[in-house]
Amino acid sequence: NTNEMEIIFDSFSSNEGFARVAVASFMTQLNPTVEEVSDVKTAVSEAVTNSVIHGYENEIHKVSIRCRIEGQQFTVEVRDSGVGIEDVEQAMTPLYTSKPELERSGMGFAFMEAFMDQVEVESELGKGTTVRMKK
Ligand code: ATP
Ligand code: MG
Repeated sequence: NTNEMEIIFDSFSSNEGFARVAVASFMTQLNPTVEEVSDVKTAVSEAVTNSVIHGYENEIHKVSIRCRIEGQQFTVEVRDSGVGIEDVEQAMTPLYTSKPELERSGMGFAFMEAFMDQVEVESELGKGTTVRMKK
């Protein structure tokens, strides 16, 4: 009784809107509230932006998103094969950013944690990052 989908796209920042809408569209099978859809879109948007800006440092490579519906549980994974995160705990601390010069506010992970029920990050330096979120 599970239903999965996966999309793989190039890390153009212009694909962030596509990714957000694709996930929201798949999610509609759960009959979510407007607020739930909006929360998931915000979280996906933050994770994809991180892959584009931090993971790939604006080089163009593949970002993949896998979504799974199991009963009423919705899981979305955003994965890149980029630079990885040295210290995940530090990265997830609200207001921490490695790019203050780009006027980043360091709130991406804080938003993901606020808008989703669970956020897990797996990352390896030089290998990439996977952000798994549940709603
Ligand atoms: P904001 O999201 O507010 O614009 P930010 O992206 O710096 O700022 P977060 O999204 O919370 O803040 O991410 C915190 C830090 O974690 C980033 O500055 C970056 O160093 C690291 N990081 C996040 N995602 C990735 C990723 N996919 N690959 C490599 N590093 C990442
Ligand atoms: Mg961010």
